[in-house]
Amino acid sequence: MDQWILERRPARAALDPFVPYDFSVEQERSASGEVVPVATVFLTNRECPWRCLMCDLWRNTLTESVPLGAIPAQISHALARIAGETACPTIKLYNSGSFFDRQAIPIEDYAAIAERLHCFERVIVESHPALVGDGCLRLRDLLRGRLEVAMGLETAHPEVLRRLNKRMTLEQFSKAAEWLKKNDIDLRVFVLVKPPYLDECEALEWAKRSIDFAYECCASVISLIPTRAGNGAMDELAARGEFSPPKLRTLEAAAGYGVGLQRGRVFADLWDLERISSCDVCYQQRRARLNDMNLSQSITPQVECHC
Ligand code: SF4
Ligand SMILES: [Zn+2]
Repeated sequence: MDQWILERRPARAALDPFVPYDFSVEQERSASGEVVPVATVFLTNRECPWRCLMCDLWRNTLTESVPLGAIPAQISHALARIAGETACPTIKLYNSGSFFDRQAIPIEDYAAIAERLHCFERVIVESHPALVGDGCLRLRDLLRGRLEVAMGLETAHPEVLRRLNKRMTLEQFSKAAEWLKKNDIDLRVFVLVKPPYLDECEALEWAKRSIDFAYECCASVISLIPTRAGNGAMDELAARGEFSPPKLRTLEAAAGYGVGLQRGRVFADLWDLERISSCDVCYQQRRARLNDMNLSQSITPQVECHC
């Protein structure tokens, strides 16, 4: 499976190990209900060792580990350029893999990383459930702010999850989530909306079940990601009729379900949303509606359109 996925990959980007490949500031609703600016730094580092079928994050990674000091330098680079960064209470350090992968982020750099994050009240990093462990405790104890770990559940559909090649079971996911809770670390969960092998109707049903599963694992935030092609493998599945991206309405319905539960925060990922729109007339209104729901965590009126 790994080989089949690797053989279909397009080229990766050429990156500088001392410069993050991107950084941004976005608004996000916090647990206390305020809308706060959140800084995100997309770290340049060694590629994740897993080979998930739908993953395209490797495109902005390196084939070798970065030198010691490179990750703290990348954080300094981004923070110096993010206007008004001291006003951001939250920072996401997303590394296209697992922060606790020692080939990606050297553990010797944790202290220097934590030092640079001193002004943040909340620090969010990503991890595969298999790497949740001692590294989390080390980082948690070095940070002044609270640690939140984002894990990809992807889907609660056991067979589709197996076919995604993530090499993770639902049981492993819930054990990692339980461990985080026991160690006073918050959990954010990524859920794919319409992974391959599901039709539109099944996709909505399994997005809902995945939201339920994430909440059973005590997620405080669930991020709904429309599944996309573009990594070679997914394009081939699309050509075979085994994958198509979700309709915008499916994402809206999944977000509406999650927000309606009022068990935590549910955000629809709006990145590149236009790709899943099929109607130019209502696209902007639908996007604005999802953005409002993300920020208010309440269900706003549906968009009426002939489409
Ligand atoms: S674990 Fe995450 S980053 Fe790694 S290959 Fe899978 S989806 Fe991509
Ligand atoms: Zn329309």
